[in-house]
Amino acid sequence: MDRERLKKLAGNPKFIPGVYNYCDRWCERCPFTSRCMNFALGEEQFSDPEARDIDNELFWQKLAETFQTNLDMLKKTAEEQGIDLDSFEIETAMEEERLNEETAKNHECSRAAKVYGEMVDIWFDSAKGLFEKKADKLRLKAELEVPNVNPVGEAANLKDAVEIIRWYQHQIYVKLMRTIRGELIEKSEILDEFPKDSDGSAKIALIATERSIAAWREMRDQFPEQGDDILDLLVHLDRLRRRIEKSFPAARAFVRPGFDEIVQHSEPMHTVDVRNSCH
Ligand code: SF4
Repeated sequence: MDRERLKKLAGNPKFIPGVYNYCDRWCERCPFTSRCMNFALGEEQFSDPEARDIDNELFWQKLAETFQTNLDMLKKTAEEQGIDLDSFEIETAMEEERLNEETAKNHECSRAAKVYGEMVDIWFDSAKGLFEKKADKLRLKAELEVPNVNPVGEAANLKDAVEIIRWYQHQIYVKLMRTIRGELIEKSEILDEFPKDSDGSAKIALIATERSIAAWREMRDQFPEQGDDILDLLVHLDRLRRRIEKSFPAARAFVRPGFDEIVQHSEPMHTVDVRNSCH
């Protein structure tokens, strides 16, 4: 895709500017696919099923094209703004970036989020047999047609809880790293009057943490024999949630484009309040 095509897409009024900046990238569950330029871009670039298959050459070709387009745009923008990408300042900026990365990794929130990601892997590795037993139990319940028992609903809730946990397992860490790096840059740039990108990222980390807590509660109901191990995970997540709130007190109030706004649809006669309705 060339620069002109990108500019044309960006100018389309049906898209909510920046909606993809503070989402959780779970497009399958997103109410804004039709209003998201990022989603449209992905659909256009990867419309061919082969282009979505990671084992197919076309996938890597499309990915390389996307990188090339981004690189060309970066060079062009740098040129327009008189920035020399090979200059000494760039090297200094890269060193600063490296230091910020280190600081972010050592922040108590990102460290706790990293540990959480590992705890999830450990739990799932140890629970393989549990899922097989659970499937047998649910099958039996379905065959016996026990009154007031809904094995299909139970299975759907379990699947949903697992999907949520897996989706956010590493995302909490990634979003917190972006939050902390962003905060370090913002501190040096004194941008008090603008909403802070770091607060937007922290808000997603908070939402992801809370959804994970809800999903683990469902897991505890589904696997009562795992109560203690799951409780450890819940306690860890709840502490993380409180640490995020303490470290980034303005995160909750951050207004994410689309998700936290009353959005006027491009189609006439529709107004939806999507506050907190993402997934
Ligand atoms: S805003 Fe929605 S559609 Fe767009 S990238 Fe995020 S999750 Fe996907």
